[in-house]
Amino acid sequence: MDVTAIGRALVDLAVPAACGGCGRPGVDWCDSCDDLLCDTPLHVTPRVGLPVAVWAAAHYRDPHRRAVIELKEYRRVDLVRPLSHCLASLLIWMGRHGQIPDRDRLVLVPAPTRVLAARRRGGDPVTRVARAAASLLGDRVTVSPMVRTAATARDSTGLSVDGRIANMADAIHVLGRRAPPPPDAAVVLVDDVLTTGSTCAATIAALAGAGIGIDVVAVIAAA
Ligand SMILES: [Zn+2]
Repeated sequence: MDVTAIGRALVDLAVPAACGGCGRPGVDWCDSCDDLLCDTPLHVTPRVGLPVAVWAAAHYRDPHRRAVIELKEYRRVDLVRPLSHCLASLLIWMGRHGQIPDRDRLVLVPAPTRVLAARRRGGDPVTRVARAAASLLGDRVTVSPMVRTAATARDSTGLSVDGRIANMADAIHVLGRRAPPPPDAAVVLVDDVLTTGSTCAATIAALAGAGIGIDVVAVIAAA
């Protein structure tokens, strides 16, 4: 990186180009988007059947949609803050409404990201948001990144839904060196966006194969 590029990067850090939720210039996150951030969660029924319930903080539209894309694709790490508030308030709501088992501890398992993709993006955004949400929720809540996707998954073209899930489950690696969640913990799989639910289904299947049960899924936005 030359000096000009470093200077430009510093300026970009100091003055966000636009609101990460709506594009309004001059602020990183505007009041209007903040008002929309934490609404009543949605109970989601994904196309792919899951063995556990799925809750989303919002539909996949702005400001959530834009914030997720800006963080993931454009490395707007300042958006970890509003997105983590959103996830934390979703988890609080779920707890209050009996949607998370009432246990002493809560473990958040970020959905898998391709390792290389995460590296290119300067860290896995879902894990960053989960960690920031956990820090808002107190020391009974921890984040355990236990799964990752292999860099080369087989092409799933032409496979049935079940075949795709099986194919994806093969590509999802449960990280053996991680300690499994303690038996007194509720375990929530967290992701940024839920589309068909096949990634969640494959992740739950892969974790089940390693003896780790997921109690419920929480996502920022449901497409
Ligand atoms: Zn905005």
